[in-house]
Amino acid sequence: MNYIILDLEWNQADDLKTKLESELMFEIIEIGAIKLNSELQEIGRFHELIKPQVFNRMNQVTGELIHISMKELQNGRNFDEVVRDFLSWCGSDYIFCTWGSLDLTELQKNMDYYRLPSLSHNPMRYYDVQKLFSIAYEDKKKRRTLQYAVEFLNINEEVPFHRADADAVYTAEIFKKAAAVEGVLNNYSFDTYHLPQNKAEEINAVFDDYAKYISREFINKLSAMSDKDVVSTKCFLCGAKTRKKVPWFSNNGRNYYAVMVCPKHGNIKGKIRMKKSAQDRIYVVKTMKQINTEVVEDIIAKRNQLREGRRERRHRS
Ligand SMILES: [Zn+2]
Repeated sequence: MNYIILDLEWNQADDLKTKLESELMFEIIEIGAIKLNSELQEIGRFHELIKPQVFNRMNQVTGELIHISMKELQNGRNFDEVVRDFLSWCGSDYIFCTWGSLDLTELQKNMDYYRLPSLSHNPMRYYDVQKLFSIAYEDKKKRRTLQYAVEFLNINEEVPFHRADADAVYTAEIFKKAAAVEGVLNNYSFDTYHLPQNKAEEINAVFDDYAKYISREFINKLSAMSDKDVVSTKCFLCGAKTRKKVPWFSNNGRNYYAVMVCPKHGNIKGKIRMKKSAQDRIYVVKTMKQINTEVVEDIIAKRNQLREGRRERRHRS
């Protein structure tokens, strides 16, 4: 399998009226990509400018950041031609690697805008290189800028940032270094532009120290929370039934937490996040991970605090 390290530049409306009238928020104007083989050796490059069809003026902030003029873009080809060539250049056996999650979203939004066939009909695996950098070199949670990571890794900064070809090269260099750190490539991500369409397509991914579940869509929170897979507290490592130390509770109606105990794997924290889908419905991302007693105490304290607050409010009224 090849790795396609992809970077896009996009333009947006330069005034409020155009912004409100436009069906597309961000118009892709440049595609840059590097192809690596399974040994992480570079085997190809793709770079093209795209002739705008939505916004005829450069957004001021974007223009200052990326240094592309409208005049230059006029020599480009239309999005649909470029993206068709790009995808055939990608081949059939590849995984996308991008800095953060936005590029794949915007690519698919632009493809939908031009009614092009979808990249995928359900969640697509990819590598978020920004996340891999954090896993390889930091605390797994922090998200740094591309420039920070380039400087951190002493990568040669010979070309300016914020052009698709340059940023793809930088992202590829970071990817190669992070991928060489043991275990890092186990941490793929899922692009949820297309959600699981039914139960069978739902995602159940187990990583080294946590698991992730991505549900299909539900009409509302209540129906999501009555689904047995959504609220399941089985151990993600062995599948055993667990004892619920703290049953699911919510602090704000959007995130739910629980603590369960597996006889073999000890304390496990469950977290359910309610997410809004493009269709204005609900889907669930649930993570489970092993935790120590300190974290268990924190969660219990949080729950008790919520109960206390509720009791006080009831008392006052
Ligand atoms: Zn277990």
